[in-house]
Amino acid sequence: MRTPAYPPHGPLTTLADIRARRNLLTDAWARPRGPRENLLTEQEQEIIDRINAGHPPELMPEGPLPLIPVAQLYARDVPALSFPEGTDLLQILWAPFDDIEGCSDAVQLRWRRSSDVTKALTAPPEPSYVTDTDHVPAPCVLHPEEVQEFPPPHLLNEEQDSRVTAWAKARSADYWSDLSVAPGWKLGGWPAHFTFRDPAEANELHCGECRGPVEALLTIDSSEWDGGTGSWRPTEDARRSGAPRYRTACEPTMVNIGRGYTLQLYNCISSPTHLPRTIMQ
Ligand SMILES: [Zn+2]
Repeated sequence: MRTPAYPPHGPLTTLADIRARRNLLTDAWARPRGPRENLLTEQEQEIIDRINAGHPPELMPEGPLPLIPVAQLYARDVPALSFPEGTDLLQILWAPFDDIEGCSDAVQLRWRRSSDVTKALTAPPEPSYVTDTDHVPAPCVLHPEEVQEFPPPHLLNEEQDSRVTAWAKARSADYWSDLSVAPGWKLGGWPAHFTFRDPAEANELHCGECRGPVEALLTIDSSEWDGGTGSWRPTEDARRSGAPRYRTACEPTMVNIGRGYTLQLYNCISSPTHLPRTIMQ
């Protein structure tokens, strides 16, 4: 549970409306359509218009609201991730009505023992309203895969940077997009490229609770690959023909960070229960 840090200033929406809009658009894009035929029927357009209009911000209830799940990982599926003693389940939750950047209880980690969960809730509590549609993940089943990465260019010195750039170029590859840091959602690895801001400085990358060192835990990306990072695309997705133009294979979670950026979660090395530090990159 979390009390929103500030009152909403735009229209509110509900998780049910977000799901309804996504399902409706998925069906609409999947339908065969004539050259002059609208994507949506009149009735569907009315539903979308109603959802887009949202609800007045005054309806946001006072007091704490439930967080929503972002990711759930079992130790058995990700052997490279070290779990705190006695735990084998990591749950990451956040508040889709607040700024998720920085270090606050808007983003929380729960390290648990899966055997303690004897009865899973069939209808977990949900916030009555949310403000940020892009921060509501579409449920996905994870199939973790280990990949080899290399340090991002901002962590190389000038001499190393020019050597690896020349090496990659000679092989018709690009060090930044093809070889160094994998795009998409991932655990651990090297920090994502800094795209719109300067790399984090040492005094920024520390635990917000104890000021101790942190390490990269999870990267949340707006897409699994894009035009520049297609070399990371899974072979089975490359083979798909007639791929949908909505809810595409490269955007399975439908989460969008900023305008296509990534959100990197760093967790405290000395105490995993401390709040994670998050940086948009
Ligand atoms: Zn700490």
